[in-house]
Amino acid sequence: MLPLPPKAQVFLQRVGPLYLGGRFQEAASGARFPVLNPATGEVLAQVARGGPEDVDRAVALARKALEGSWGRTTPDERGRLLYRLSELIEAHADALAALEALNVGKPYTEARTADIPLAAQHFRYFAGWTTKWSGEVLPVSFPGEHLAYTRREPVGVVGAITPWNFPLLIASWKLAPALAAGCAVVLKPSELTPLTALYLAELVEEAGFPKGTVSVIPGLGEEAGAALVAHPGVDKISFTGSVEVGKAILKKAVDSLKRVTLELGGKSPNILLEDADPKRVLKGVLFASFFNQGEVCAAGSRLFVPKAKLDATLELLVEEARRIRQGHPLDPRTQMGPLVSKEHMERVLGYIEKGKEEGAELLLGGERNPEAGPGFFVQPTLFLAEDQHTIAREEIFGPVLTVLPYEDLEEAVRRANATRYGLAAGVWGQDLRRALKVAHRLQAGTVWVNGYLLLDATSPWGGYKESGLGREMGRYALEHYTEVKSVWVNLG
Ligand code: NAD
Repeated sequence: MLPLPPKAQVFLQRVGPLYLGGRFQEAASGARFPVLNPATGEVLAQVARGGPEDVDRAVALARKALEGSWGRTTPDERGRLLYRLSELIEAHADALAALEALNVGKPYTEARTADIPLAAQHFRYFAGWTTKWSGEVLPVSFPGEHLAYTRREPVGVVGAITPWNFPLLIASWKLAPALAAGCAVVLKPSELTPLTALYLAELVEEAGFPKGTVSVIPGLGEEAGAALVAHPGVDKISFTGSVEVGKAILKKAVDSLKRVTLELGGKSPNILLEDADPKRVLKGVLFASFFNQGEVCAAGSRLFVPKAKLDATLELLVEEARRIRQGHPLDPRTQMGPLVSKEHMERVLGYIEKGKEEGAELLLGGERNPEAGPGFFVQPTLFLAEDQHTIAREEIFGPVLTVLPYEDLEEAVRRANATRYGLAAGVWGQDLRRALKVAHRLQAGTVWVNGYLLLDATSPWGGYKESGLGREMGRYALEHYTEVKSVWVNLG
């Protein structure tokens, strides 16, 4: 077992207060809530339970920052601050990765090589945009002589609401472009995993952002989250989470016509073409469905396999998946940790039961794994299923892969698209022309060819259909944090 890095140890001693207007303080109610380690079920920390009053103060301070020193910051200064924040994340990467592993249940090695460096990269990438994101001069045809141009102005105060599966990384997807555009942000992390957001608050403070530019208010969705959505001083909500909550937020936001971007769930298809060599793609296919315990919005959880290759593929998949090592997230040998909570584990086990009841064939796993630890471990699970089975239609958000055989490619593409979701998809095959043609026909915001879960700050991310609204990452994200203003000057 890796020792907990000293910075993480001391952080766990002091963590608790929320971060508001550049100060760490208790919630107005004085209440706290427990944050658990899902590998053991033990309490890691007690964290301030922010509510409407805290949100109110955070929004007022954010407005003040926008009207004051943050609003006057030059693009170059904003870039420096974002860059400084990315460097601080890197300097604290071991501690952040360990806290993410302890709180989410993900293997430390994954957090250290994916979540944390990608979060740092995100701030670095958007640091560069601060001096490059601009309006344009317009070639207007209006009679007379005019100078017409556009300005990109910050949308204002952003309420960022994040889920528990990649807490720091998803917070960075919102904070980095929002701050680059000049917005102020009130972040409400998931009540299950607020630790790294509070750590990030310390780094924001150390980087030197003006007071009130960023506040972090941990709390429950129906309390702090709902207060943020309802608040008239919030100009935009950037939400990542479930389709149900996303839709509810969109409905609420209609009252004030708040800007809303939504990154929601998925049930992503992953298609093996006939010329895909099962042996060569095996690791990628398992990674697609089991990375982060399968708690990934883009998990390739519907694997389409040509009937002619079904037996060989299943044999290899079962053999390889059986070897996945489950255990404590801080054990460097661990490849899969526990699910995030008891409630979520029960939900996943409920889906597995439903799969069996409806007649899907269980090929591997399907149970809790008490040998991995006392926490919320579920075995990597493989089903041979049919499209109408619940487990092949609904997002499970756990280590459950459904294999779906197909006869011909037309049919596979049609079935892959026959879902309310459209977040991501994968295609595997040696003939790239054919693979690309399939990729172009899949209704998904991201399609990977001969790879999966390839993410980079430059590459836009978001969903078709019920998987979301808008895009994060890349320059596309900046669109959603700015208003476009047209300015006309009569030169006559
Ligand atoms: P969730 O919808 O339950 O919660 C997400 C966040 O919303 C949490 O911070 C929660 O406190 C808050 N919330 C809950 N009710 C609220 C309300 N009424 N008003 C305002 N805020 C509220 O989702 P989760 O269980 O944390 O995360 C899992 C879901 O997130 C999955 O569906 C997954 O697919 C999705 N997800 C999507 C992406 C993406 O990029 N598309 C990434 C990660 C997770």
